Amino acid sequence: MESNTYDIIIIGGGPAGLTAAIYTSRAFLKTLVVEGDAPGGQLVLTTDIDNFPGFSQGINGPELMIEMRKQAERFDTSFVSINAEQVSKKDDGSFEVRTTAGDLYLAKAVIISTGASAKWLGLESEQKLRGKGVSACATCDGFFFQNKAVAVIGGGDSAMEEATFLTKFASKVYIIARKDKGELKASKIMLKRAEDNPKIEFVYNFEVKNVLGTDKVAGLELRSTVTSEIKTLPDVEGVFLAIGHKPNTDFVKDIVELDPIGYIKVSNNTKTNVDGIFVAGDVADHRYRQAVTAAGMGCMAALDAEKYLNSLNK
Ligand code: NDP
Repeated sequence: MESNTYDIIIIGGGPAGLTAAIYTSRAFLKTLVVEGDAPGGQLVLTTDIDNFPGFSQGINGPELMIEMRKQAERFDTSFVSINAEQVSKKDDGSFEVRTTAGDLYLAKAVIISTGASAKWLGLESEQKLRGKGVSACATCDGFFFQNKAVAVIGGGDSAMEEATFLTKFASKVYIIARKDKGELKASKIMLKRAEDNPKIEFVYNFEVKNVLGTDKVAGLELRSTVTSEIKTLPDVEGVFLAIGHKPNTDFVKDIVELDPIGYIKVSNNTKTNVDGIFVAGDVADHRYRQAVTAAGMGCMAALDAEKYLNSLNK
C-alpha cells in the first residue's frame, strides 16, 4: 500500500471521528484522520464535561479529546492536522481526499465527521467572555448557573429548548429575541412551553449590544431593534447563544446529499447517498448534538464502513 493510501479516511477529529478511528484501527484497517487545523471539535471550547460517562468527577473538554486521540494513536491511527477541501470518487470506486494544502490521500471508504459550528454574534465582549459565562451549549454548561439569572439569545426552537432546560438550574431565564412576539421562528408548541414557564421572561425586539464584565459575565447590555432604546440586565451571569449552528459540510456539498438546512442526509444509520461514504456526529445531527451521541455514531459508522470494506473483498 502506498504511503498516502489508506483503507479508510475519517474527516474530522471530534468525538465522532476519534471513536470511529479507535474502532477501525482496532479492526486492523489502515486509518487516517484528517483532523482539521483546530482538532478536537467543539469540546475543546468547553471547560468541564460532567455528562460523558466514565468520569465520575467530570473531565475537561480538551483533556477528554487528548485522551481519545491518544487512544486512537495506540492502535496506529495516523493523523494530519489540516482541513479537507474536497472528496471525490474515482472510477474504481475508491476516494480521493484533497486537503487545503493540496495534498492527496486515497482510501476505499470515508467517514465524514466534521461536526457543526455554533454561530456567534461576533461581538468582542462575547468572544472575550467565552467559557467565562458565555456559552453556546446549555446542556454542557447550564449546571454551573444554579440559582443565577441567565439569558438565552435567539428566537428559534434551539433558544426555546435551551431556555426551558436552563430553568432546571437558573433562578431566571431571559430570552432575548430581535423580533416581535408572533414573529419568532420557534414552533408554536416549543414557544408555548417557554411562555408557560414562570421562570422565563421574554425580551422582544432587542439584540445584544455588549456582554458586560471583565473576568466573568456581569450583566448584559441590549439595544432595541425598533427604537434607539438601550437597556441593561444587570443580574445576568450567564449568556447562552442559540442563534443556530452551521454544519461543516461546504467541502462535501458537491458529492453527498444534504438536507435543506445543510446537514448530511443519512439513511440506514450512517450511510450517505454515496456508497462508501459514511457519516457520524453533529454534521448529520441537529437534534441531539452531544459528545456521547457523536461518539456512539462514530462507532456505528466504523462498523458500517468495516462491513462495506469486507464486502469489497468478497
Ligand atoms: P433557527 O435558524 O431556527 O433560529 C435562529 C434564531 O436565532 C432566530 O430566532 C434568529 O432570529 C436568531 N438569530 C440569528 N442570528 C442572530 C443574531 N445575530 N442576533 C440575534 N438573534 C439572531 O435555528 P435553531 O438552532 O433554533 O434551529 C435550527 C433547526 O433545528 C430548526 O429547524 C429547528 O426547528 C430545529 N430544532 C428542533 C428542535 C426540536 O424539535 N426539539 C430543537 C432545536 C432545534 P431571526 O428570526 O430574527 O432571524
